[in-house]
Amino acid sequence: MKKPQAYRVGDATVTRVSELLLHDFKTTELIPEWKPELTACFEEWMVPTYLDEAHTHVVISTHAWLVQTPDHTLLVDTAVGNDKKRSIPPFDSLREPFLERLAELGVRPEAVDYVLHTHLHSDHIGWNTRLTDGRWEPTFPNARTILPQRELDRWAERVEKEGADSPKTAPYFDSVLPVLEAGRVSVIGPEGGTALDGFMFHPTPGHCSGHMSIGLSSGADYGFFSGDVMHHPIQIARPEWSSVFSEDHDKGRASRRWALNHAVETGALVFTPHFPGSSAGSVSRTPEGFAWRFA
Ligand SMILES: [Zn+2]
Repeated sequence: MKKPQAYRVGDATVTRVSELLLHDFKTTELIPEWKPELTACFEEWMVPTYLDEAHTHVVISTHAWLVQTPDHTLLVDTAVGNDKKRSIPPFDSLREPFLERLAELGVRPEAVDYVLHTHLHSDHIGWNTRLTDGRWEPTFPNARTILPQRELDRWAERVEKEGADSPKTAPYFDSVLPVLEAGRVSVIGPEGGTALDGFMFHPTPGHCSGHMSIGLSSGADYGFFSGDVMHHPIQIARPEWSSVFSEDHDKGRASRRWALNHAVETGALVFTPHFPGSSAGSVSRTPEGFAWRFA
């Protein structure tokens, strides 16, 4: 595999650690409002990287972002992970060389000193742990994990409702609890705030109620880890279109608009969790909405 592009944000370097490319989602299964007659004008830049040749299926990526600053080595979200039993078929029992890809970037798991989470869905927490002698052990033994408190509360509510043996709560038990039990978790309150020097959590609810995007300031540069405020670049051109993964569509739309305006106003380099291609880019305003330019 070609070495991934490393982006500079001031003193920091940001590099994608790839995991999966999914081609099985129909456009309307991801975004019910998707209509070919409304998207024809975007097909030139979307096909084939983000939309298949037949214009019927989107392409979705799962990956993590590695951030290396002069002081720290950290990951923003940790993708799906290996060996996890999942009810979503493409995420079930993966055997992906994610840690080998990280090693190719010169990073051993022991060297990761922080993991930051936008939210705690199964496709963002998987590599928090790995199966070792039949047990889920923290993959990054020296890392402090920083995450939105509300997301932990949501898992507690879900475990209370569904029980500990449900497939619905498996991601908590295999990918969150082992890190909590290792005593290496710090939480961010509902108002967001600074986590580490230069890293700021911004509440962007909608996809889920505890969801946060993460800004990275370094020198005059700014990076923005959007999280799941959007799942496909069509939602930049059409920010009012929600994906099926949004829990609260109105809040999701408001958060997406906030995030896109924020990206324009700050001149951010935006790092997305599910766009294929380079997964990174910048946003500008258009008369109808916003435009995306891949970096
Ligand atoms: Zn996601």
